[in-house]
Amino acid sequence: MILGYCYKLRPNISQSDKIDRWINMLRANYNWSLADRIDTYYQRYICGDYCDLRTKVVITPLTCSIGGATGNPWSNKGQKKSPVNIQITELPLFKKARPWYDEIDSTVLQQNLRRLDKAYNNFFQQNKGFPKFKNRSTFHSFTYATGVKIKGNKIYLPKLGWVKFYNSRPIPDGFKIKSVTVRKKSNGYYVSVRIEDKSVPTFPVKQLEEITTITGLDMGLGKLVYCSDCSAIDNPKFTTNKITKRLQKIRQKRVSRKKKRSNNRRKAQQKLSGFQYRIAIQREAYQWQTAKKIVQKSDAIAIEDLQISNMIKRCKPKGALSNGEETSPWVAPKYDENTGRFLKNGQSAKRALNRLIADASWYSLTQKIEYMAAKSGKIVLRVNPRHTSQECSVCHHIDPNNREGEKFLCTNCGHADDANFQASINIKNKAINQYGLNIVKKSKKKVRRDLPEPKQLSLFQTPTSELTETKGRKHYARKSKRDVPGNLSEYAFQLGLFNQENNHPDRDSS
Ligand SMILES: [Zn+2]
Repeated sequence: MILGYCYKLRPNISQSDKIDRWINMLRANYNWSLADRIDTYYQRYICGDYCDLRTKVVITPLTCSIGGATGNPWSNKGQKKSPVNIQITELPLFKKARPWYDEIDSTVLQQNLRRLDKAYNNFFQQNKGFPKFKNRSTFHSFTYATGVKIKGNKIYLPKLGWVKFYNSRPIPDGFKIKSVTVRKKSNGYYVSVRIEDKSVPTFPVKQLEEITTITGLDMGLGKLVYCSDCSAIDNPKFTTNKITKRLQKIRQKRVSRKKKRSNNRRKAQQKLSGFQYRIAIQREAYQWQTAKKIVQKSDAIAIEDLQISNMIKRCKPKGALSNGEETSPWVAPKYDENTGRFLKNGQSAKRALNRLIADASWYSLTQKIEYMAAKSGKIVLRVNPRHTSQECSVCHHIDPNNREGEKFLCTNCGHADDANFQASINIKNKAINQYGLNIVKKSKKKVRRDLPEPKQLSLFQTPTSELTETKGRKHYARKSKRDVPGNLSEYAFQLGLFNQENNHPDRDSS
């Protein structure tokens, strides 16, 4: 089993200076190596096969290191070396030319090159973007492969020495350190430790045949999650609520009004990033708590396979050709001849929605649900989101007119429901059909819903006071700190590994 534990470091001034310097140097090394790989590609491309590996032609000194400055792209066994291995064997030469790199641990430099290689692999195999050059805001970390020891509240990082850290949870017996990543964040330095114990088996995963209960989830904005058992989880809107938005605006204004590169600007920037960090950890804690709640409901969880990055794309400019058509030459978007401005495409209206979606961060929530499910031996099933909000769960009639905002009224059979719960039930049914599950049906109990069905007036009925009377605003008195959503002190539960049995009472029944 492999686990990842994260701790906060307490480096002294010389150590933190060193970490900062290393990060800067490693960033330069990363960028240099990326440029090296790009250059090699173009040189081979332009000069034909003068660097050809098949014919083993002599490599000219013009070639950069991947062709082999030492001139050998072949390993001793006669196999072709991978680009990352060539770059790693070039490291001594790299260090000779830049002696200040000697202060960095050699495994850290190697891992830095492997990180670049991973970016390339993602590009080639997983259809991700081409590796980017890193700047100060996109490069914060480095990784040790070996040589790290932990003793009490001190961690030994090679060439940095013994660094103090907050030992917030002990590493379980038998686990060995695999790799260690030092990361700089806005409020300090952190270390994440990857530990492994091969003798401990990973958590057992339920087979599809064993599943007897399932919950469908529909992610929303009014509520964060709508479950098919008619319960919903609130959306606290951590960044898009009124107070946070105002505070953020004020703090951003304070930064932008200060003189660039001044100390005061740096201080204001620190305050802003501290504020944003606090929101981020609140959301994080709330999501873990939500994920745990959801996973405890049933054996399997069905979710939509959403492409969220597509949902928060900008609107297409009006007049330019649509997405399906390849345009060459490029067609400029049309503009209004009277005002000289581009035609309105609805982007300004969509921006607020995009922010809400980004704030809800469904993707990281589903990731956490998957993690918690894997830890408790349950399964997350993904279904195609097509028509889940338009289908009637009773007669399976699909019609876009079925849904009107939050209301759902089937145009075929007249079934009325809340549109979001309707969608979650559809997702559940889809998963049952798609994966061929045999679900045990429960006896029908009457469950009070969070959102009551709208009352229908018959033709000659006049609205009575019962129907028209608006309810007085409720005041919820805050009993204690634990009532605040996302309050870390209460909710940041540890992902207890060894008291697993106690955490999941429904495990015994399965
Ligand atoms: Zn229907």
